[in-house]
Amino acid sequence: MDTDHRAGGVKYECLLFDMDDTLYPLSLGLNLFCRQNIQEYMLEHLHIEESEVPKMCLDLYREYGTTMAGLKLLGYEFDNDEFHAYVHGRLPYEKLKPDPVLRNLLLSMPQRKIIFTNADHAHAVQVLNRLGLEDCFEGIICFETLNPLKQINVPDNDHVPTDSTDSGSFNSHSQILCKPSVEAFEAAIRIANVDPNKTIFFDDSVRNVESAKLAGLHTVLVGHSDLVPGADHALNSIHNIKEALPEIWEIEEANQQQKMQPPAVETMVQA
Ligand SMILES: [Mg+2]
Repeated sequence: MDTDHRAGGVKYECLLFDMDDTLYPLSLGLNLFCRQNIQEYMLEHLHIEESEVPKMCLDLYREYGTTMAGLKLLGYEFDNDEFHAYVHGRLPYEKLKPDPVLRNLLLSMPQRKIIFTNADHAHAVQVLNRLGLEDCFEGIICFETLNPLKQINVPDNDHVPTDSTDSGSFNSHSQILCKPSVEAFEAAIRIANVDPNKTIFFDDSVRNVESAKLAGLHTVLVGHSDLVPGADHALNSIHNIKEALPEIWEIEEANQQQKMQPPAVETMVQA
């Protein structure tokens, strides 16, 4: 690994995690239920021709990052909360089981840890609770964080909101900010107040990883064994993180070694 980012003694200060299909395996199939619910919403609530729905759903996802973002840009008007409740509220969350192995890994990492998901806050909380990871992250950057009411530019926060539900109602007409747009990553970097050069981003999406790299982040593609352009690492499972990125724990080991050394010469001037 390069040593360029060790300036100041800390290689990585923050770990930014996608959630769905990254913190739990794609093989659980939640994404399939999610897509089915989106298609039902398009049919039942937006009255889109049934034969067009599957292709349109996929095309909009590919073109605009999420199908929802594409629908908005096409001019469909619907309530964001209603959409999320329909799409995520009916997911078989019971498929998600507590993951104590991942929990212990996360808790042992000395860096700040933040979720960065395109999903809504309620879904993020539900997933993290089901996985038993609800207290492993300092904050959640989600749909509501990036798309607050009247939001045109990036919110001027310099901290990570720990609870985005207090941001009121949300834009129902404007352009939606979401991964994989580089602007979404830049917004997340600003909201989390992190140095991208000292931040590692984990995601199961190849295109998200590509954009993250353009935004200056270190990147880990999860759920894939082969590297792709823009990915610094590829992990079959998030559980393999310690074997693939032992440097995450280097700070702590360095600190522990330091504690065993005699105290350094005091350089601070006492007042
Ligand atoms: Mg994902």
